[in-house]
Amino acid sequence: MPATNSLRQLHLTHQQLEDARQQLERGPIQIKARESIVRKREQDLVDYHAELKRQKMFADSKSLDLNALEKKIVDLKVKLNSASSNREFDIFKEQIRADEMAMSVLEDEILEIIDRVDTETAKQADYEQAVVKAKEELDSFRSQFESKSRDLQDSIKDLERHLASLESLLPSEPKQQYRRLVASRGAKAMSAVSNGACGNCYVNLTAQQRIQIKTGIVLFCSSCGSLLYIDETL
Ligand SMILES: [Zn+2]
Repeated sequence: MPATNSLRQLHLTHQQLEDARQQLERGPIQIKARESIVRKREQDLVDYHAELKRQKMFADSKSLDLNALEKKIVDLKVKLNSASSNREFDIFKEQIRADEMAMSVLEDEILEIIDRVDTETAKQADYEQAVVKAKEELDSFRSQFESKSRDLQDSIKDLERHLASLESLLPSEPKQQYRRLVASRGAKAMSAVSNGACGNCYVNLTAQQRIQIKTGIVLFCSSCGSLLYIDETL
């Protein structure tokens, strides 16, 4: 008959093993998440440069419009000076006034774009730094996990050995049921009795069951099927 203390050890070993395996599985997922952050930051930088270029080209095309308008006004002024009638003079004058107005609007627009380009240009270092930082975080996590995974693999091997030696103490008949439970539920295959109830499903044990467990009989919870044991440290 296994000592109840060895059943507690068995449960604990299952829990530690499950935890170590989960940590080992989680690592690559966490690495992938950090890789996708790097790709996102790199894309942000590409988009940033593209937008900056677009704004600069926009400012250039507006400057060309401004130059054309300036030339047009110079031409109109020449025509104004050689106007052949008052009516022609008024038409040119009105045209110049309208074009000067358009020029002033265009100048404001260009200033606004240049201001925006200046503000955005100042952010370049931030975008570049964000890429560097994401890559550093990825590298540091990856190397940390590499050394941690070696430790985890070692401790999994130790725990598996320990588990096998504890399992060898189980009588053969409950052992088969125990194996089926472990295969489907992992550490949840076992449950410490707490305040007279199963720790997994909280259903109370009968007085007879409690006595049986205390005398060293391996019992399974009549409600959830867990292998029950008394945790004397509780
Ligand atoms: Zn139960």
